[in-house]
Amino acid sequence: MIWNEHAECMDREQLLKLQNERLRNMVSRLYYNVPFYRKKFQEAGIDPGDITGIHQLKDLPTTTKQDLRDNYPFGLFAVPQSEIVRLHASSGTTGKPTVGGYTRADLRTWSEVVARSLYAAGVDKNDVVHVSYGYGLFTGGLGIHQGAQKIGATVIPASGGNTKKQLQIMHDFGSTVLACTPSYALYLADTMKELGMDPSELKLRRGIFGAEPWTEEMRREIEAKLHLKALDIYGLTEVIGPGVAMECEHQKGLHIFEDHFIPEIVDPNTLQPVPHGQVGELLFTTVTKEGMPLLRYRTRDLTTMTVEKCACGRTLARLNKFLGRSDDMLIIRGVNVFPSQIESVLLEMSETEPHYQLIVDRVNNLDILEIRVEVNEAFFSDEIRQMENLAKKIKANIESVLGISAKIKLVEPKTIERSEGKAKRVIDLRKLVD
Ligand SMILES: [Zn+2]
Repeated sequence: MIWNEHAECMDREQLLKLQNERLRNMVSRLYYNVPFYRKKFQEAGIDPGDITGIHQLKDLPTTTKQDLRDNYPFGLFAVPQSEIVRLHASSGTTGKPTVGGYTRADLRTWSEVVARSLYAAGVDKNDVVHVSYGYGLFTGGLGIHQGAQKIGATVIPASGGNTKKQLQIMHDFGSTVLACTPSYALYLADTMKELGMDPSELKLRRGIFGAEPWTEEMRREIEAKLHLKALDIYGLTEVIGPGVAMECEHQKGLHIFEDHFIPEIVDPNTLQPVPHGQVGELLFTTVTKEGMPLLRYRTRDLTTMTVEKCACGRTLARLNKFLGRSDDMLIIRGVNVFPSQIESVLLEMSETEPHYQLIVDRVNNLDILEIRVEVNEAFFSDEIRQMENLAKKIKANIESVLGISAKIKLVEPKTIERSEGKAKRVIDLRKLVD
């Protein structure tokens, strides 16, 4: 099902024309209405009139979360406050929250992209949409709510918490769609089990899950435990909220609503575009946003992008699985290395655990990468040849992904230190030398 066939199945050449036109308009709004951007343009020697299309995005300044903090709370708004009809904010783990300001038109855009997202998941006006995302400053609750209302579905604004009551309402009101974080979906499933409730007692058939990263394994677990099809929705407060990109029923990546949010995948170091299919940081330019339009906003999310037409008929580009954060990137011998790339190699091998440590050092001005990998209990052996062969295999697999050589050191099961928080994956000894 496609909510807006004109926008979602547009010929890509036509889409490009639209994006170019919208970018030109946005650049002039930024220049004349936001002092922060005017200064950045002037410093870079860019005249807004020089910008003709999105091929020039790579020459334009980027926007970071720090820029948002520096201009807290309303410094990046492009309209007078009288035009702002809604504020949202995400609580950052550190420091001040990230603020989003919406005009009436922004709220219409937001409902539109969430309506498209719900249709992509196969949800329509016959559905009963149970929204267990928090309502409040967080964009999850109200974001899904207004889109579900737009398509004419029956909305249950359950918000978070009080899990037993949520299950009762889902049961009594006949909820067919559950919208929440994937971890809350699992929590609901576990609570059902505790209460002796069978998933067949509910009518759930679709799940709209987002606001945190989740794996394919989690998807399978949720689908099996709740008897529904689980789909991934992506969004962030800075860009608009949920509905920036959404998976369709083919579950082959998340369609980006590119007529509103122009994506770029760039090298986090040089900020230049990387070829299609290559891993890089995801950037968004919000060409139609009025309240707080952002130019080349750095999400820090690492991923790849596909522009091939999807089996669903949409021509919109798709985001593939997220591979971690660009803050974790290492540059080794001039090559960008993401710990998540190593993790994915190890996850695919049955002989190893995804527990590893990267040790980077500099010997005679040359960067050296050593990877310590835990061998799983079932495979660990005292036989040296067997272990040597495994090390060779890991080395070959990792080198083919990273494009640089690495020394592999196999260690016994459970010997790499675990900590309650984030595991210390990287030890960069070069920083100590410099
Ligand atoms: Zn699709």
